[in-house]
Parts: sequence; C-alpha cells; structure tokens
Amino acid sequence: MAAAKKDYYEVLGVNRDASEEEIKKAFKKLAMKFHPDRNPDNPKAEESFKEAKEAYEVLSDDQKRAAYDQYGHAGVDPSMGGGFGGFNSGNFSDAFGDIFGDIFGGARNQRSNVYRGADLRYNLEISLEDAAKGTETKIRIPVQTSCETCHGSGARPGTSPVTCTTCNGHGQVRMQQGFFSVQQTCPKCHGTGKMVKEPCPTCHGGGRVKQNKTLNVKIPAGVDEGDRIRLSGEGEAGVNGGPTGDLYVVVHLKEHPIFQREGANLHCEMPISFSTAALGGEIEVPTLDGAAKMKIPAETQTGSVFRLRGKGIKPLRSSEHGDLMVHVVVETPVRLTEKQKDLLREFESSTQADAGKHSPKNKSWVDKARDFFS
Ligand SMILES: [Zn+2]
Ligand SMILES: [Zn+2]
Repeated sequence: MAAAKKDYYEVLGVNRDASEEEIKKAFKKLAMKFHPDRNPDNPKAEESFKEAKEAYEVLSDDQKRAAYDQYGHAGVDPSMGGGFGGFNSGNFSDAFGDIFGDIFGGARNQRSNVYRGADLRYNLEISLEDAAKGTETKIRIPVQTSCETCHGSGARPGTSPVTCTTCNGHGQVRMQQGFFSVQQTCPKCHGTGKMVKEPCPTCHGGGRVKQNKTLNVKIPAGVDEGDRIRLSGEGEAGVNGGPTGDLYVVVHLKEHPIFQREGANLHCEMPISFSTAALGGEIEVPTLDGAAKMKIPAETQTGSVFRLRGKGIKPLRSSEHGDLMVHVVVETPVRLTEKQKDLLREFESSTQADAGKHSPKNKSWVDKARDFFS
C-alpha cells in the first residue's frame, strides 16, 4: 500500500465506541455530500466518497470492525486472510432503503446496465470434530442461473429484445426527489435497458432461472463459529453478462456433548470419586484424539482445573495449538451399602478430633463466620 491509510473512525468522524446507528448516520451524511453524481467535476469528492464507503463497509460489519480495532488496516485488508471475511455487499445495500439504494445502484452501473449477481449466504452446521480437523462436504443451494434456452436474454429463441422506450436503453431515469433530481433504475426494464416483446418460455422473460446446485465445500481445519468461506463466483448470475456473485458459507458449530470450545481452548467437566480426589490417582479423560491419561494430585478440590497442553484446537489463523481445560468435579458417592456407610462414619469420627486440619475450606469458612458475627 502506498500512502498511510486514514483511520476509518477519523474518516467517518465518529468515536471509536460509536454505535451502529451513529456510524450509519455519519456515512449517509458523507455519502450525500461526496457522491460522484452530485460532484461530477470534482475527483477529490470521488476519493472522499470511496474512502467513506470503505470505512463504512468495515465498521458496519461486526466481525470486520473487531478485526480492525485489534489489528488496524492489516486486520481487514481484503488481500489478506485467504477466502475469509470477504466483501459483504449485503450490509452495504442494507443500510439504505429506497432512494439511497437507487442513487448507489445508479452510480455503480451508470452507463453499462451490467449488474453483478447477488452474493449468497449459506449457513452450514458442522460438528466440533469437523471444525477442528477440517472436512469436505456437499451442499445444495438454490441459485439464479442464466437461462439456457435464451442464453440470458429473456427473449423467445429466434427473437431479440428491443430497446426500452421508457429510458431509451439507458436503464436509468431521472426523477425529482425533493430538492434535487436523482437517477433511478428504470421501472419498466428494471435497469436492463431492454424490453422483451416475446418472452422466453423457460424463464418468462427474466433471463434467469432458479436451479439447485450441488457444491463441494472444503472446510479448513480450525474454523470457528461465524467464520465465512467464500466460494468465488458461486453466487447468483449477473445481469447482461455482469459477473456472478460469490457464495459465503457461514460456519456454525453444533453443540458438543462433552466439550465447549473457547477459541483455541476446549473445556470439559470431569467427575472424579472423592477418594481419588483425596488420595490422588490417574484418570482417563476424553480428548478429540481419543482418551488420554491425566494425573490427579492428592488433595484435589472440586472445581480445580487441569490443563492438558496441546489437546485443544489449532485455530485457522494461528500456528499454536490450544489446550484442553479439565474442570474436576468431586462426586458424592451414592447408594452405599451399610458396610460402606459404617466405613464412612468411622472415617468421619477419625477426622473429628482435628477437623480444621482436614477441611481447609470449612475451617476458613468457620473463621470468616466468627468474624462476621462478632
Ligand atoms: Zn427502461
Ligand atoms: Zn430464457
């Protein structure tokens, strides 16, 4: 990158803790001021507009904003991070309803009537194991593809579309909106600039048909909840030969019966008997690679956490393996025989003589209670 890039918050003139609403408002204001349509002979305005648009695209996306806050421009540079976290055009047009959508739509496609197909989103649920090790899966998605009968023209084979009479083929019409006039997509031809006299029987003149597509998706090892995998060119077909949109596969992790994931680390709860807790011993704990042995030191209290190094997950953008945190729960024995109960009673009375020595927690609690009541 050439010159140092301006801070996105500075560009929009908002504080770092600005709300979504404030960011949107600030951008709308700048967009109105610098929009190229309203500053036809001012290349500086176009620069400012692009700058504001880029800042808005990042700060209006929770994930990208978090990455930007942490790593600065490097965190959101689209040339970094592989297929992840790509451009989210959805958010951008979301921010504007009616009139703004038309202003921007007009600016992007002013003369060509060529539209890029929409980006699609697919929510994919995978298991924790698959997320940790990576996997390959097939998904079926409905997409708009170019109609094969008419090759996307929308006209019955043997006929061709004619120029739209409402916009004279421009795809845009000028409309008076309050104080100023704005360009709007032609309502008659929806921006294509052409009209179909005899519609294609397959697509009824739309030029595109809905089809189910089966796609192979490679899930890289280490993906986490909310990660996005971009399948370039697998979105909806463009209009008038415009480029196809992209498909974003958004990863969701299924709940796991044993492990909870926290970034690179896994957590699990492990019940142990109270004699193991008191005397120490070796137990078997589950890991993603099968059972592993773990030493329990003598005098372990319930709630103690033990770390099994390297038994967590290696996140996608990290070279280090996380750990498995084993939360120990000391279990009270149940369904005891009379004999076992007798043994416990015997045990209990043997500790009565010097209770504080054997129950450090209870002792400190008794001390605290005494201080409190005195
Ligand atoms: Zn038209
Ligand atoms: Zn067709």
